[in-house]
Amino acid sequence: MYPLAPLLREGLEGALDLIYPPVCQVCHEQEAHAPAGYVCAACAAQVRLITLPYCKRCGAPFAGEAANIDDCRNCHSVELHYAHARSAANHTGPLLQVIHQFKYAQARWFSPFLQRLLIENTFAALPPEMWDGVVPVPLHPLKERERGFNQSESLAAALATALRVPLLTRVLRRVRYTETQAGLPRRERVKNVANAFRLCGRSSPSGKRLILVDDVMTTGATLNACAKVLRTGGATHIVALSVARACDGSFGLSASP
Ligand SMILES: [Zn+2]
Ligand SMILES: [Zn+2]
Repeated sequence: MYPLAPLLREGLEGALDLIYPPVCQVCHEQEAHAPAGYVCAACAAQVRLITLPYCKRCGAPFAGEAANIDDCRNCHSVELHYAHARSAANHTGPLLQVIHQFKYAQARWFSPFLQRLLIENTFAALPPEMWDGVVPVPLHPLKERERGFNQSESLAAALATALRVPLLTRVLRRVRYTETQAGLPRRERVKNVANAFRLCGRSSPSGKRLILVDDVMTTGATLNACAKVLRTGGATHIVALSVARACDGSFGLSASP
């Protein structure tokens, strides 16, 4: 059977170029097209990818040469329920702007840019075993209705397609409508998401090797809370991925700004 999805996507991208002028939606100056998520090459080049040294467990970037995980203030005294976490880039500059508009202003045309960033820059973190599925961090149904979509699901779907594994949206659910994590210190973040997630009961994580996906990771409290529920449900191995890593300066050895 002819793969319909790429055909539809190409058609959609062509249509988008007719609707929107081919201008970068970050700088509003340079030329940019739908397949690039309307981000021009100059703006994309300003995205700060996370490269070594970073904490091997939580993925927090370190400044300088230090890369001893025992020194990572973000995770050395925390029980992590995922094996490790990785993020594609620092949540600064154009990426911060793109994610903010993507999430809160329905700027869905940025999807290809964010999806590519996640896929191209976190694949190396994935050992070549078979994965059983990709699980997006769920939104509370009320918040998903308000926002119109789950931004993590959009990213997770692209990763699942790239890895050719199922997108699992019926494993986890969010049962508490939590206030936004942005701006909260670590202790408050952990408290905010404690007991926020449950198993759906419609699809079991038992015996599965799973990839959890969120858009932005700060301390990792949300991803860790999700991983805990999946582990309790019998998942055997979990890695956590995000497009962006926000460093508030309270963790990492001397985390990049
Ligand atoms: Zn630009
Ligand atoms: Zn760490």
